[in-house]
Order: sequence, then structure tokens, then C-alpha cells
Amino acid sequence: MPEYKNHGPGHGGVSQISRVDWAGEEERSQPSFDGDWAYELIDKALDLFCLCYDGRIIYLNNAGAEMLAVPSAHKAIGKSFTDFIHPQFRETAERALEALSTNGEMLALKFQRVDGAGHDVEIMISPFPGSGDKAVSIYGRDIAHRNQAEEELLNSHGRLERRIEKWEQALVRERELRRRAEDQVNHSQTVIENLSQAVVAVGADYKIAAVNRAFTEMTGYTTEDAVDRPPHFHISSPEGRDIHNRMWEGLKKEGYWEGEFWNLRKDGGKYAERLSITAFTDVNGKVQYYTCVISDITRHKEDEERIHFHANYDSLTGLPNRSLFLDRVEQMVANTPRTLRKLGLMFVSLDGFKLVNETLGYDYGDLLLKQTTGRLINCVRKGDTVARLGGDEFSIIMPNLSSAENATSLAQRILDTVAKEFRLGGHPVAVTASIGIAICPDDGVERTDLLKNAASALASAKEIGGANYQFSTADFNDEMKERLVLKTGLNKALENNDFILHYQPKLDLRSGRITGVEALMRWKSPDLGWVPPGKFIPVMEETGMIIEVGEWALRVACRQYNAWLEEGLEPIRIAVNLSARQLREEGFAAGIERLLAETGVPPSGLEVEITESMLMKDMEQSVVTLARLNEIGIHVAMDDFGTGYSSLSYLKKFPIDTIKIDRSFVADIATDPDDVEIIKTIITMGRTLNRRVIAEGVETEEQLNILREFNCDEIQGYFFCRPMDAKKVSAFIQAKTAGSE
Ligand code: C2E
Ligand code: MG
Ligand code: MG
Repeated sequence: MPEYKNHGPGHGGVSQISRVDWAGEEERSQPSFDGDWAYELIDKALDLFCLCYDGRIIYLNNAGAEMLAVPSAHKAIGKSFTDFIHPQFRETAERALEALSTNGEMLALKFQRVDGAGHDVEIMISPFPGSGDKAVSIYGRDIAHRNQAEEELLNSHGRLERRIEKWEQALVRERELRRRAEDQVNHSQTVIENLSQAVVAVGADYKIAAVNRAFTEMTGYTTEDAVDRPPHFHISSPEGRDIHNRMWEGLKKEGYWEGEFWNLRKDGGKYAERLSITAFTDVNGKVQYYTCVISDITRHKEDEERIHFHANYDSLTGLPNRSLFLDRVEQMVANTPRTLRKLGLMFVSLDGFKLVNETLGYDYGDLLLKQTTGRLINCVRKGDTVARLGGDEFSIIMPNLSSAENATSLAQRILDTVAKEFRLGGHPVAVTASIGIAICPDDGVERTDLLKNAASALASAKEIGGANYQFSTADFNDEMKERLVLKTGLNKALENNDFILHYQPKLDLRSGRITGVEALMRWKSPDLGWVPPGKFIPVMEETGMIIEVGEWALRVACRQYNAWLEEGLEPIRIAVNLSARQLREEGFAAGIERLLAETGVPPSGLEVEITESMLMKDMEQSVVTLARLNEIGIHVAMDDFGTGYSSLSYLKKFPIDTIKIDRSFVADIATDPDDVEIIKTIITMGRTLNRRVIAEGVETEEQLNILREFNCDEIQGYFFCRPMDAKKVSAFIQAKTAGSE
């Protein structure tokens, strides 16, 4: 084997090679490198170039030395090439070297570097021509980077594939979920569409987004009618609208609301619905949509109402039955003490009902009860309850009575209406009613007491013989009876000339002269005898009779004025008491003017007295009329002063000449220092306002002296003179005048 040395880079290596003695084959195959450039090229190449002779390295370029990690190319010379091959590839390499060729292909293997590390390379072995099959040239290139890149590529490819696989799996899963969700949605849609309950989907804007078929069937409104409208658009009953407002509040507070109410279909038909509405919110609590579910509960409601009706109403008359009646009484009795009003309870029973049943039969009896019901309902006021307690017994609850007396007019109306003839299937039937009345709180504040009292009052009405009403309290019955007698008697009093006027003189304390007289009405009833005005005047006020009788009194007073003049007396002013009702009459002042003109009485001959309390009740109108009378020259006095709570400012406003101190103050003037103070104040006030002050009801000398001491202008009272008829008064005045002269 020839000795070859690497001369190192830069010079001569290749030329030496060119001079290799290939043992006689020189001529056949001379290596034909031309010059140093070729050497340079190979030596500086980035790939491995190596020449081996008989498997041993005889030349190695620098890149090769680097690949094999030998410190320099010289160190590799003479070494077996396969020593540098990784054991794993060594056999392959040996075979290729033996074959002197890799058949023009690159053979991938690994070098076993001097430093022990493996290095991926690709080599191509080619026979060196002319070496007698001993030498080979080896070209190698570093594929470590490529491998690494490939490996990385492979890795990343693997990763990518794994990721894609994962994605694919996720995608499959998602597709499956979506399919299932879609199935579910389709399924739910089918379910919703076929539900018997109406479902309304409402957007966050509170407008309907969709309705199902049941909604249209239930309400008559189609999808087109409903969509884009607020969910309550179909709530058309007043009850429903009221409930809708409450619904909003519930929805805002709880996010849920449920309620039942009667509603109207599009065609106006009535149906009952149970509506539940739920708000669905996002994680922030913002409403995303609402769902309304409506059930038609008409049948249920009707059943409920039927049951309620049977439990609470009488099936024959349709009136509340005993049970509902008791509930209502309980309720109203509980409320009554909080009002200033009274509660009346009336038991009405038909006299002769049993007879109708027995003679005409029960069907006619039923008919009578039905017709009676109609008549009773026509009698009562709004707010009253008519109930049937059983048999021929009815009851009327009257809340809101201003006085117990109000019940009497209703009782009378019922007596009158029931007493009218009934026609039962062509049969004329006459019955009457008996009525028992109890008043809350007068006759009790407990339901049981009131019922007991009304029942016992009814029993007494029956006992008396029926066709009447009785109050449960005996006193009240007497009072009512008396009023009735008074009313009846008064009706005829005027035409029967049962009224007369008495006169009571008034005395001027300073001059000792009689300043006038007060006309006081007297009524002598043929049945009752003398009735005091305190009893019959209020009844006339109530019936309105006072207007006519008041006119009569004015006329009589004027006539009396003239009569006394004719008798030769000095003119005497006559004071006539007026009722507020008269003052309220239109043209009252004009009427008086006419009367004065007719009778020739000067206005100064007449005085009118009106009580303070009446004035206070109806100030506006009274003041106008009184002012007119005052203007004409008629004297005006404020009667019973001190009982009507008028203030100083009112007094100033009223067109009055005289203040009459109520006799209740005068009565105690000698014993009660408070009354002394009051009288003193009134007198001072009267003087300040330039009004005359008269003290009424002076009965003793002591009272008279006190009043004189306080400078009271006039007095009136039994001490000086009682009210007397015209004749006696004239005699009294004449005697007085004669005495003072
Ligand atoms: P009045 O206008 O305050 O009349 C005074 C009342 O006191 C009269 O009662 C009279 O009899 C009574 N009286 C007079 N002096 C004394 C006394 O010293 N002691 C006592 N205890 N009483 C005395 P009378 O006549 O019973 O009249 C009562 C009320 O009836 C009158 O009160 C008046 O408000 C009303 N009245 C009388 N006549 C008429 C009238 O023609 N029309 C109207 N609207 N009301 C009248
Ligand atoms: Mg008077
Ligand atoms: Mg008086």
C-alpha cells in the first residue's frame, strides 16, 4: 500500500494524489484533477470527501474531519473508515465498501465520532478508477440538521396530527351535542306546539316573540295578532287589567308571577285563565326573555263559583243565604265602630205566608218568595244587603245609616210594598210584613246581640198583629211611635187651626220699658194636648212642614202687630223665630217684603230670630238672606248664642242687630263663675261690635241684678213675664205702661 500523507490545506495534496502510483494501472486511470483550485475546492467543501484504500483512509478533507470530530484530517489517515461508522450501520457500510459502491445512491448512516457522539450522514461510495478495485472515493453530507429538521417536522407533524385528531374528536362530539340539542329543540317545539296550555314567548323588550297554537285556540288571537305586542294585550277584562298591574310588581320583585282571573277572548267570550309568567335572566341578572304559560281554567272556576254560590246563596231567590248573611253582619259590625255611622239590621217576615203554602201549595209559596225578593231589592239603597234566612224570613243589612231613624223610612217602604197585592199565577194574594229592627251600636256591638235583638223586635211586631215594624229598644220604639203620631197629627194641624202664637215680652234694663215681644208657637193636638215646640218643631223641620207653618207664623205676627195698634197700644216689635230651611227658600226675603206691604206693617215692627247653630250650618245662603232683611229695616237677632261656637270674626260678618245669650248660661249665673265670665265676655263683645245683648230665661231677681250689673241691654224670662196669648200680653203691656206712667 503506498504511503499517503495529507499535506494539509493550501498546497500540493492533490498533486501528490495525482502522482499516486496505482501499481501499474497508472496509465489506465489517471486521476485528472487540475491544479490547486480543485484541492482547494474539496478541502473547503462543506461536505465530506474521503479516499480509502483497502478500507483505510488515505485522504480526508476538513469538513470530513469535522464530521468525524477528529482534531485534524491527518489523525484520520490510515484508520479504517468503518471504525468511524456507528455500530448499528457498520455492517451496511462494510458491505458497501466491499462492493466499492453505493450504486450512485446516498446511503444514510451514522458516524461514530471520536467524541463518542453519533452523527447523521449520507454517504455515496464510488470506486476510484485505476486503483484495482482497492480505492474508493467517499462523498458524505451532513444530514444531522436535516434529520433533526425532519424529526422536528415529524414531531410537529405528529403533534399537528394529534391536535387535528383531537379537534376532529371534539368536532364529532360537538356535532353530536348540537344534533342532540337540535333534536331537543325540535322536540320541545313540537311539545310546546302541541301543549294544551297557551305559551307566549316574550322578548326582553317586553314584546311577544311567539305564541303557540293553544294560545290562538284559547284566546282567538293569531300569531300575527300577537307578535310584537306587549304580553298583556289580550287581557281585556277590567279585573284582568287590575291584576296585570300587580303582576308587574311581582315580576320585578320575584322574577315570577302567577294569578287567576276572568278574561275576554277576541270574540268577546268570557273565559278564566291562570297565567304564570317567568323572567329568565343572564348571569348579571339582566332579563333575557319572559315566558307566559296560560291555562284555561274556565271549567274549574265555574265549578268553584257554583260551589261557592250553593254554599253562600239561596237557590230559590238568588239572595245571600244565612251563612253569607252572618259573615257580612260580622264584617260590618266589626267596621261600624270606626265610622260615625250606624248599622241597621232588619228582620222581615211575611204575615200569612203559611196560609199561601197551605191553600195554594208550595209552588205558589215559592213564587211569592221570589216576588217578595224583587220588591225588597227595589226598596233598599245601594250598599244594603238583602238576604234570605230561610222560610219566609228575610233580612236587610243597612250599613251607613246616619241615624237610627233612617231605618224607619225603609221599614215603612217595605211595609207598603209588601202590602200591595201579589199575583201568583193569576191568583190575587194579599200578605203583609212584620219587621224587627236592631241598630249597632245602640242595641249592641256584637253580632249575636244584634241578631237576638232584631229577632225579638220581629217577635214583638208579630205579637202586635203584624204589618208593623218594631225597634228592639223599647225607648226607641216609643220615641219612633211618638214621632209618627206627631207627624200624623201635624199634617192636619194647620188646616185644623191647631197652632197659635204666644208672646213673651222683652224688657229694656235701663229704661224699664218693653222693647218688643217674641212670638212662640204653640200646638194643641186634639189627641196629645199641648205639645211643646221642642218636640214638634224638629219634626216639622224634618218633614219640611216648617216652611209652610213658618209662613203662617209670620203672617199671624204681622196681623197681631196691627191688632195691638188698633187696640191703642204703642207699636210693639214682634220677633218671629225662623228655621234655617226657611232662609234657604228662594225668594224668602221677597216674600216677607210682600207680607209687610200687604199687612202695612213697617219693617221696624218685625224682628227675625235665627239660632246660632243653624246659621253656622248654612252660612253662605243665610247671610245673603239676612243681609237683605236687614237692608229692608227688619231687625235680626242671633238666638241661643253661645251654643253654636261661632267666633268673633263671624259675628262681625253677620248682619245682626241683637245677640240673645242662651238661657243655659243665664240659669247658672248665680252659681257658676265660668258662666259669669262667659256672659260678661258676650256683653262686652256685643258692646264692642255695636250689637244689643239680650239675656234669655231670666227666672230670678238675682240673675236680673247680675245682668244689670254687667250692663246687659235687655232681658227676657219668666221672672219678668211668661209667654202668653195675645190678649194677656196686651193686658200685661197696658198694665206695665200704666204702672210706669
Ligand atoms: P227660643 O227661640 O230660644 O225661645 C225661648 C224659649 O225659652 C221658649 O221656649 C220660651 O218659652 C222659653 N223661656 C222663656 N223664658 C224662660 C225662662 O225664664 N225659663 C225657661 N226655662 N224658659 C224660658 P219654647 O216656647 O218652648 O220654644 C222653644 C224653642 O222653639 C224656641 O226657642 C224656638 O227655637 C223654637 N220656636 C218656638 N216658636 C217657633 C216658631 O214659630 N218658629 C220656629 N222656627 N221655632 C220656634
Ligand atoms: Mg227665639
Ligand atoms: Mg233662645
